[in-house]
Amino acid sequence: MSDSPRCDVLIIGAGLAGLVAAHELTTAGKRVAILDQENAHNIGGQAFWSFGGLFLVNSPEQRRLRIRDSAELAWNDWQASAAFDRLDDEDSWAVRWARAYVDFAAGEKRSWLASHGISFLPTVGWAERGSFSAEGHGNSVPRFHVAWGTGTGVVGPFVESAHRAVDAGLLDFYHRHRVDELVISAGRVQGVRGSVLAEDDASRGAASSREVTGQFDFEVSAVIVTTGGIGGDHQMVRRHWPARLGRPPRSMLTGVPEHVDGRMLDIAGDAGARLVNRDRMWHYVEGVKNWDPVWPEHAVRILPGPSSMWFDALGRRLPEPYLPGFDTMGTLKHLRTSAEIAEYDHSWFIATQSIARKEFALSGSEQNPDITERSKREFIRQRLLGRDATDPVEAFKTHGADFVVANTLEELVEGMNSLADEAPPLDPATIRAQIRARDLQMDNPYAKDAQVMAIHNARRSLGERLGRTAAPHKILDPAHGPLIGVKLHVLTRKSLGGIQTDLDSRVLDDDGEAIDGLYAAGEVAGFGGGGVHGYNALEGTFLGGCMFSGRAAGRHAAATAG
Ligand SMILES: Cc1cc2nc3c(=O)[nH]c(=O)nc-3n(C[C@H](O)[C@H](O)[C@H](O)COP(=O)(O)OP(=O)(O)OC[C@H]3O[C@@H](n4cnc5c(N)ncnc54)[C@H](O)[C@@H]3O)c2cc1C
Repeated sequence: MSDSPRCDVLIIGAGLAGLVAAHELTTAGKRVAILDQENAHNIGGQAFWSFGGLFLVNSPEQRRLRIRDSAELAWNDWQASAAFDRLDDEDSWAVRWARAYVDFAAGEKRSWLASHGISFLPTVGWAERGSFSAEGHGNSVPRFHVAWGTGTGVVGPFVESAHRAVDAGLLDFYHRHRVDELVISAGRVQGVRGSVLAEDDASRGAASSREVTGQFDFEVSAVIVTTGGIGGDHQMVRRHWPARLGRPPRSMLTGVPEHVDGRMLDIAGDAGARLVNRDRMWHYVEGVKNWDPVWPEHAVRILPGPSSMWFDALGRRLPEPYLPGFDTMGTLKHLRTSAEIAEYDHSWFIATQSIARKEFALSGSEQNPDITERSKREFIRQRLLGRDATDPVEAFKTHGADFVVANTLEELVEGMNSLADEAPPLDPATIRAQIRARDLQMDNPYAKDAQVMAIHNARRSLGERLGRTAAPHKILDPAHGPLIGVKLHVLTRKSLGGIQTDLDSRVLDDDGEAIDGLYAAGEVAGFGGGGVHGYNALEGTFLGGCMFSGRAAGRHAAATAG
């Protein structure tokens, strides 16, 4: 077609997976076109907004903190967490991707990232600690490495690479081009069709117009689909919500920009791509309304340390292993399926200032300006000195609709009740009794309470003690006050299933045959193979999955296209 881009490979989606694929292709001298439904402000997609946490195994940062990690331990953790149970079918490629990804994370990943100028904070976080069992879900050791620059530091090198390729005449961007159809015939890709959307100067992440001003019909022989997940479309999330997680909440918040709309999944399915594991998703239970939203219903996730007490909507402490930072899906399932509480959409943290100061990390590049701007001085001021939490956490305490700050428990509970008309009022005496029982366990360095044991256990890890786990203390001790109550909502974030791909990121059809010239990578491909995480993620695995699968697609396409 006359107006088709002059390119060897067309990429749909200018997020991290697409940019990494483009980097591989243009480095190999191939001509690339990248189409995206959003404007140029949005290059980098979700990765720009991300916290920049990356799963690495046996890294120098871990070793410096005396963490002993290995590919064997990580693979044990991954398999136990993923719990692949569709091995002959939907998980057949996912499990191969998982093995390859753990080997990557334990091997080449760190030096490859370093070769792109990506470096890490000296501390390593312990995300998703799991289910208190060696055979169960969770990270046995801290593995969450936050990049200097947060998500902007991870995606930045690939944005720069794309701009260099534009200057070199190897790459063209087609913004406001939304793909509505993949054209496939005789087992090979022939092109893409779609709509040109009205020019819109919306700022990064903000919702943009969907007015259609024209159509395009591009003929190309190689296409890489990197269009992200479904978290921005609650209807789609509800449609694929699995029965095992009970009924979806009536109201959810949104942890991703609106462009994470999942439309391309069904478009790819209609064209013959095999979609698998769509019932697997990764939504967080610690969402708070952003008081300064960028996108509609914008929620921020608290990445909690282990010390906050977690209560359900009726004011009952959550049982272990549903402790802060332990088991995302298990906690979601508990909240959505336990008879008396499933009708409510919220739960509560009760913490102290000492806990918030050290343990409330907020996910997102904009919520961590010290790290995003790579300011070591601000990092030390905000995270290591004084009694205040980081500036963004303090701002949530002041402006956040879900936060209550009080000097006495009675005042705190009164404030919490004023935020939750939909549930019976919490009884301050019952809450006090549960906190007192927990506080009594704090007199010894050992205890019978699982959460208190978990706090002591975390403090045995140097990094946790220095940076992420508050010194054990009684919640009702005024010296650690004020008290902080936080109303927590479910926030939609990631899809774990998607387009099934082989280890070269080639898209498979329903017969398991690769469709010639068609690739998928990143979240739309379940981060590789249609579901590399199985049922549970170990965290920090999404950005890495985008890079690993985007790289595979770019390399294979570079070797075969054009
Ligand atoms: C706040 C936040 C914090 C996070 N923190 C972390 C973290 O610490 N560690 C981690 O590993 N992961 C994290 N993640 C997840 C991670 O950022 C994403 O999973 C990842 O960036 C997805 O990248 P992608 O390239 O697959 O898709 P996206 O970034 O979603 O990009 C897809 C692009 O495709 C475009 N598109 C979609 N459909 C079409 C269409 N039909 N036609 C044209 N264009 C289309 C979209 O406009 C978009 O630009 C976080 C995410 C968020 C939002």
